[in-house]
Amino acid sequence: MNDTVKLHPSVDNGITPADPAFDGATLLCHCEENPVVVAIHEQCQHNHLCGCTKCWKPAGALFSQVAVVPRASVHVIAHPEKLEILDRKAVIRRHACTGCGVHLFGRIEQKDHPFHGLDFIHPELSHHGGWAPPTFAAFVSSIIEAGVDPGRMPVIRERLRQLGLEPYDCLSPTLMDAIATHVAKARGEQAA
Ligand SMILES: [Zn+2]
Ligand SMILES: [Zn+2]
Repeated sequence: MNDTVKLHPSVDNGITPADPAFDGATLLCHCEENPVVVAIHEQCQHNHLCGCTKCWKPAGALFSQVAVVPRASVHVIAHPEKLEILDRKAVIRRHACTGCGVHLFGRIEQKDHPFHGLDFIHPELSHHGGWAPPTFAAFVSSIIEAGVDPGRMPVIRERLRQLGLEPYDCLSPTLMDAIATHVAKARGEQAA
């Protein structure tokens, strides 16, 4: 067993199933005073671990935990003045707290992007349980870019599989298919 491999605090001690009655909660940044609070009005979808170097992750974690919710379900309810967009040129505009650096949500403004209309969130910023848990791991090889020894990758992938989090080096087949379907539809509309 590889349970000494620490991936992310939300999965390291086993994965808690979603609460079927869950219908949203608030996300808080890590500021001890005047935290930014974001209300999410529904269950998240496509929760996963992400190995990319752009997503916010807690100190010491190899992966971030990211999920999506419709942007209409995301409302900043306290201290919006503390939020700033990290990189306006990035496809996903990550809205981060200027006090603690935590990313509260990521938003895509490009209307023709396959994921336009969905915001990226980190469910662990909530003090409530019941969120739909991670079901796969994306961009796994990218953790090497963050400094992980390539020689550790087999044991990391083994641990992910042990937890039922199939490791992918891009997104999951479901999400890659959604992107390709969007591209095909966009082409079809142009041809018509
Ligand atoms: Zn903060
Ligand atoms: Zn990421």
